[in-house]
Amino acid sequence: MNAPAIKGWCPGVLSPMESGDGLIVRLKLTGGIVPLDLAGQIAQWSRRWGNGQIDLTGRANLQLRGVTSENLPDLQDAIAVAGLLDKDPSGEAVRNVIASPLAGLDSDAVLDIRPIVAELEARLAGDPALHKLPAKFCIAVDDSGRLGLVDVRADIGFEAVRTDNGPAFVVRLDGAADDRFGPIAPEGLVAVAAALAASFLTGRAKRMREHVARVGAINIAHDAALTAFHTSSLRGCAPQDCTVLSVTLAFGRIAAEELAHLVNCAAEIGVTELRLTPWRSILIPLPSICAVKILSAALAESGLILDPEDPRRRVAACVGAPACLNATTDVRGDAARLAALVDVGTLLHVSGCAKGCAHPRAATVTLTGRNGSYDLVHNGSPSDSPSLTGLTLDEAAAHLRQITADKTQGGTA
Ligand code: SF4
Repeated sequence: MNAPAIKGWCPGVLSPMESGDGLIVRLKLTGGIVPLDLAGQIAQWSRRWGNGQIDLTGRANLQLRGVTSENLPDLQDAIAVAGLLDKDPSGEAVRNVIASPLAGLDSDAVLDIRPIVAELEARLAGDPALHKLPAKFCIAVDDSGRLGLVDVRADIGFEAVRTDNGPAFVVRLDGAADDRFGPIAPEGLVAVAAALAASFLTGRAKRMREHVARVGAINIAHDAALTAFHTSSLRGCAPQDCTVLSVTLAFGRIAAEELAHLVNCAAEIGVTELRLTPWRSILIPLPSICAVKILSAALAESGLILDPEDPRRRVAACVGAPACLNATTDVRGDAARLAALVDVGTLLHVSGCAKGCAHPRAATVTLTGRNGSYDLVHNGSPSDSPSLTGLTLDEAAAHLRQITADKTQGGTA
């Protein structure tokens, strides 16, 4: 079971990735749903076989860091006993589905997508024809409830709609602007996803965006027997009935001790599961408003972010040096020092290199580490050309202050 560690790969349980702090073992939890007892086990695994640090990724997966190759077989055995082990690394690599985090709990949603997400993951993992998909290829399934996935980048994005014939889905391909195709009956979603993925594989593109640019979205949709879908009002507006506490993880990291504390506090008030989001936060479905107050008080002294105004919510930062071998700066330490300068409406991204793992899109200010200093991009991503290069942290802070001041002046002028 113990597969060789691969550098620069998308890590799984069967194909862990080597990093500066040991192996990264990523757990892909279907629908981002983590039963509370499993969350407790993950904290234990991290303490026992990892370095006690757990990341929540932009695809709502949890990854254990600092696993040694000696410990890996024991960790894999424990994951197998918990029923979370894929049959083979190729199936695990392409089982990339992001679902609405409140699936099944949200009365605003068009339908409960949990069974569809599970079926889609099973198809991706079990269909060898789809194992040629790139490991970064991702499918999103949005139930059109309160927490939509419109800002989540996916190669194929399904969005639930209400039609005269009942719940259905429309599909959007990355790179195809606002074109939507459908409607697709819920029981047909998996077959359509497989057909779109098969169409993608006929090209030589790395991601769907590139394939769309070459072939055209309408032609790819035709391969899956889909036509354009036009409607002006897709979302429902039923009252909300689900009580949820959202806790944000500073820069997407939680210590095993913190996770164990969260699990213990949540268990005392009858919580049964946690929901992972692609936005560095964990949702805790609760039985009442009273339970929100009790749990908030219990977590007040933890390192978890409960305050919606906390500036760290406006900062994205990757793990940086020394944990990532590509980084030359202490990204998270520097991000923590800069966070207080980040105003509401500003997004700061501190990245260890141009790969931009924490936020591969544009931010108000992007600082990209290079040879121990930072390059600055204003309103762009780490791969864009910087307007300033070779900045020390103090210089970067001064520019961040200036950009914030200019923004404020522009807004009040
Ligand atoms: S963005 Fe950060 S975590 Fe990703 S490869 Fe670069 S330094 Fe490493």
